[in-house]
Amino acid sequence: MPSIPKPSTTEVDLATTDIAVVGAGAAGLYAALRAAREGARVVLVSATPLAQTASYWAQGGLAAALAADDSPELHLADTELAGRNLVRRSAAEILVREAPACVADLQSLGVRFDADRFGRLALGLEGGHSIRRIVHAGGSATGRRVVRQLSALAAADPRITVFEGQRARALWTEPGSGEDLGSAPSPTPGASPGAGRCRGLLCESANDQTGDGGARVVSARAVVLATGGAAALWARTTNPPGSQGVGLLLAHAAGARLADLELLQFHPTAAIGVPGREGFLVTEAIRGEGATLHDLSTGERFVEELAPRDEVSRAIQSRLRETGASAVGLDMRSIDPAHFPNVVAALREAGLDPTRELVPVAPAAHYAMGGVVVDLHARSSVPGLYAVGEVSCTGLHGANRLASNSLSECFVFARRAVDAALSEPAPATPAAGEIGALLSSPGLPLAEPATRAALWRDAGVQRTGEGLSRLLGDPHPLGRLIARCALAREESRGAHLRIDHPERDPALDYRHAVVCGADETVSWETWE
Ligand SMILES: Cc1cc2nc3c(=O)[nH]c(=O)nc-3n(C[C@H](O)[C@H](O)[C@H](O)COP(=O)(O)OP(=O)(O)OC[C@H]3O[C@@H](n4cnc5c(N)ncnc54)[C@H](O)[C@@H]3O)c2cc1C
Repeated sequence: MPSIPKPSTTEVDLATTDIAVVGAGAAGLYAALRAAREGARVVLVSATPLAQTASYWAQGGLAAALAADDSPELHLADTELAGRNLVRRSAAEILVREAPACVADLQSLGVRFDADRFGRLALGLEGGHSIRRIVHAGGSATGRRVVRQLSALAAADPRITVFEGQRARALWTEPGSGEDLGSAPSPTPGASPGAGRCRGLLCESANDQTGDGGARVVSARAVVLATGGAAALWARTTNPPGSQGVGLLLAHAAGARLADLELLQFHPTAAIGVPGREGFLVTEAIRGEGATLHDLSTGERFVEELAPRDEVSRAIQSRLRETGASAVGLDMRSIDPAHFPNVVAALREAGLDPTRELVPVAPAAHYAMGGVVVDLHARSSVPGLYAVGEVSCTGLHGANRLASNSLSECFVFARRAVDAALSEPAPATPAAGEIGALLSSPGLPLAEPATRAALWRDAGVQRTGEGLSRLLGDPHPLGRLIARCALAREESRGAHLRIDHPERDPALDYRHAVVCGADETVSWETWE
């Protein structure tokens, strides 16, 4: 299996800062700006260009209870209903309460959301929401607009040093210190008593193929992982190629707990068979405006289009199995193309005019509900290590994320992470031996096409114990961990559909599958 090459040089630069943020998507940028506004020094490490973050690709928007007839309680109820008895209520309550303030903060940072003719925020509707509550920008160009604005601010901020084109290769942790996060104000679910403190990280050029390009050790009070999700580990995906869960492996190697890796959301409407646009996501907001789904041979509508995503994906997948077709048709001919300009333009560029013909769509791997287990301040089980955005598992999405809750989560929990991280102990200076150990840490694996094909086949929309057992032999460590969690969850719940265990098991309500340490065994936890 190829791996990212190791730096062989002993020339290592040392940078000292307050907060080291890894990843420059919505979560990382917002965390960096928040810390800088609090007067902290920030190093922001980003492996890929802006346009290759999932945040940049986000279309629909962010969910916040802002309408006059909406409330955090209604937003919470929708989130819990979609999450199928696995939503961690304490985290979801924070999200629904704090999302409106984040929208206001983004506006104060210069993000211009779409407004109606009265100048009020225009709110979209997406699957699983009982009311219009999706704040958007540029129609379906929300991610692009938000990320561009935040990155311009970060680039101009003298307190933020951006290591662009740099990839975090390993986390620098002290040997176990005996600290017990159980004494923290909001206990980390399943904290690892005694885990060694995270002091910083090693990064290197993301483009260097020789391993001789030099390396940097960043020493910080806290490291905030914001490396995004893992959906690009699956062959058919809506995500940019870099979303392969590298942050999960960094955290796992540092001793952090990971959870709910089996819970991967499949987006129902990703383009299929459209040249150059394989996996291109057609936002759910278009269904919110009235687009419908049809069997391409009979023209029949076969699903409630605005049901939560797990239901719609499952209905499409069943229809495809029954008919042997590769796609169903999304009819958006009645939709005003001016409301979704980038979707219409992208499809037209690929030779398909969605104002005149149906768009062939099928489910694709989209969003990782699982990740690095964090508490309500985004603290992982390793002291000094935080995780925000899609790399984290706050538990708030349960077994099926409610549409547009993820961007909101990026902002709400990035803010909480920074507020907590600023009171971590001052940065330390690494000893020569520690630098040596970091430099000799094993390379992070890249997923080969065979792994990606295996995940799609064996851990796709429909799973069996037999297929998942096959995955246990995959060379990619995250592929194996996903298989372990998926095998352990002997039931069907939300995005996780086991054909051999088709029912939900009430005994697993509110129970999260947690992995930690080298033996890769799965334990079950219930979180406050
Ligand atoms: C097509 C699409 C549409 C979506 N639409 C919506 C939507 O409308 N609403 C919504 O709420 N959610 C949406 N989502 C989901 C949402 O966009 C993501 O969950 C969210 O943007 C994740 O943000 P993030 O900051 O956690 O990660 P990302 O935006 O993926 O950023 C990850 C960052 O980490 C960096 N990185 C990774 N590994 C390393 C490393 N080792 N070292 C250094 N840097 C590293 C990357 O370079 C990148 O900068 C959509 C997702 C996709 C793919």
